[in-house]
Amino acid sequence: MIPLPESVGGALREIVRDGSPIWQLRCPMCEQWADIDDDQLHGRVSVDHTNEGCSYHETHDFAALAGLP
Ligand SMILES: [Zn+2]
Repeated sequence: MIPLPESVGGALREIVRDGSPIWQLRCPMCEQWADIDDDQLHGRVSVDHTNEGCSYHETHDFAALAGLP
């Protein structure tokens, strides 16, 4: 697990599902782990939890914040 800066909150982790690596974000508001795609990981599109009973809807370059290569 890679904690994200406090200004952004939450954390990233990489899991393997069916043999494929998948990044997940722990939402800083609802604390739930959710899959994010490559566009969300790199801040090209937003992460929107608003249809899951959470008000989190933000766009960040999580890969850069986490120091991923
Ligand atoms: Zn959330």
